Amino acid sequence: MSVSGLCSVCGNAQAQFTCDRCGAVVCQEHYDAATGFCTECAAEVRRGRGETDGPR
Ligand SMILES: [Zn+2]
Ligand SMILES: [Zn+2]
Repeated sequence: MSVSGLCSVCGNAQAQFTCDRCGAVVCQEHYDAATGFCTECAAEVRRGRGETDGPR
């Protein structure tokens, strides 16, 4: 499955990954492989550890 389009974070680079949380397509630069999220979600998840916003 190939993702086409531009990164929804920078809008500048070819998107190669899909965020598991918000579904945004992001470039390698803005994909957090450790979480499988975009950097936006990864930052949010790390910041708001107390809030439950999904499975788990
Ligand atoms: Zn990007
Ligand atoms: Zn995301």
